[in-house]
Amino acid sequence: MRQALSGITVAKGLALGRARIREPQRLDIEERHLAPDEVDAEIERLHQAIASTRQSLQQLRDQLHGALTPELGEFLDIHALLLDDPELLASVTGMIRDEHYSAAYALKLQRDRLAAIFQAMDDPYLRARREDIEHLIGRVQAALQPGPHDSAVIGLAGDVLISDTVAPAELAQLAERGVVAVLVSQGSPLSHSAILARSLGLPMLIVAPEALAGIHEGAAVMVDAQHGQIIVEPGPDDLLELREREFSLAREQRAHARRRNIPARTRDGVEILLRANAESREDVARAHELGASGIGLYRTEFLFLQRHDAPDEEEQLIAYRDAVLGMNGRPVTLRVLDLGADKADSAGITLAREPNPALGLRGVRLALARPELFRTQLRAMLRASGYGPVRILVPMVTRRREMLAVRELLAECRRELLDEGHHLAQDVPLGAMIEVPAAALGLSAMIDAMDFISIGTNDLVQYLLAADRDNDSLGDLFSPLYPAVIQVLDRIISSARRTAVPASICGEIASDPHHIRMLLALGLTDFSMHPTSLAEIHADIGRCDLASLRRRRNALLRAPDRAHLEALVRKL
Ligand code: PEP
Ligand code: MG
Repeated sequence: MRQALSGITVAKGLALGRARIREPQRLDIEERHLAPDEVDAEIERLHQAIASTRQSLQQLRDQLHGALTPELGEFLDIHALLLDDPELLASVTGMIRDEHYSAAYALKLQRDRLAAIFQAMDDPYLRARREDIEHLIGRVQAALQPGPHDSAVIGLAGDVLISDTVAPAELAQLAERGVVAVLVSQGSPLSHSAILARSLGLPMLIVAPEALAGIHEGAAVMVDAQHGQIIVEPGPDDLLELREREFSLAREQRAHARRRNIPARTRDGVEILLRANAESREDVARAHELGASGIGLYRTEFLFLQRHDAPDEEEQLIAYRDAVLGMNGRPVTLRVLDLGADKADSAGITLAREPNPALGLRGVRLALARPELFRTQLRAMLRASGYGPVRILVPMVTRRREMLAVRELLAECRRELLDEGHHLAQDVPLGAMIEVPAAALGLSAMIDAMDFISIGTNDLVQYLLAADRDNDSLGDLFSPLYPAVIQVLDRIISSARRTAVPASICGEIASDPHHIRMLLALGLTDFSMHPTSLAEIHADIGRCDLASLRRRRNALLRAPDRAHLEALVRKL
């Protein structure tokens, strides 16, 4: 019987296939105690399982081929790094030795403990790392109990895989086998699997477990991950609709391929800069492939996560230089590490405890409180400028003096590097993220300290509404479409226009064509977005008439409430 379901899009795309259901991978491991004389042999079994997991990760790595090899390899390396974490081994062997637990049960306890720690984190990226831990420990457990539990990759050409979760390494194999889409009940759009699914072009959605439970093995499943829709046993009209959507998507992609190196232009001929947000090498590759005007936001904090030490200057240089070389002459905006109080404390950078981490020592506040660490990053960024155009972006700026302090540090680093004989670009613009309300409202008094600005609407909206951007229990409260937000955005954009300081926007708002039209109406012409949105926005810009959008500005500013504003924006 036909059934329509909805899900959260993780990776866009359209697909039609047959349901292939994989039972939850979570192994139900019972509490088992060992006899004292079994302990040593059990620890040895654990070591062997870890060694065989390491070997299977290496085998997977060796089998990689094709364009995505570096990215896939990185994901596998992260898992290998977690596996080699001495603390993981020490606490599991400790439980076997002291409590006489079986290795499988000790691993389960450790997995639950780590999962709870990650789950409680405020930062969505770190929260999503829980999946990495679960996938990895699942692999070690499977290695301990080979046989029926062994979680082999399943899925054949034409399958829509339905599972609780999918590990990054599996995704690559699934795509290779011709699996056409993946529906999972757990996960986050920020997980490594999600990032990889986007890179592989494999449509993927997160769907509520109750909804997934209603799909039968072998059912025909139509997946529209453009719109977060799933139709089980689609009817003739659905199939026709799918063909039409596939046709128009293919046409849009073909048109984009032709246009990709042609700058986006409105119907009345104004050039609009479309840059990409990136946090990995594959994002940079995708941005380049899609003809982005540059990287508008490179989130460097990803280099600092999941490790016990901060990356040194050389390691950072390589990452930043890769991004610069990857964009082949188009400017790359490297953002100073935007770690919050809860982020990266395994490297000892952030404060372990803060009562209110979102309002605490984060972004530039943290960078200035850790000058040695900050200098290392600035030096690496400056050195990367020797390879192509670089801009440096400072997050969470509240006060003018923060920008002045960064500028001073930057000038010192420049002098040092030149003395050491490095080649640096002469001009490395220093900009500020405008995401703290005080900076937004007081911008005209401090914009002289900024060479450019980038509006971070994710945080700006969170702070203006006093609404946690990641708290699902707030329902639809979190939205940029409030009169207060629009007025603040207008004020920022007007300050920048008045002073001729280039302004861009890099929050999620820039991935939505309606929001882009609203921002065009307010006078912004420079946007940075997730690479997967570039084609759609590029196409939509070509349908906009800037002059008539600009005439809507006053109406937008006068909207009395969210409902009016939403109606106006829908009609732009
Ligand atoms: C923002 O706050 O809008 C932004 C782009 O930065 P992040 O999402 O990394 O905080
Ligand atoms: Mg931010």
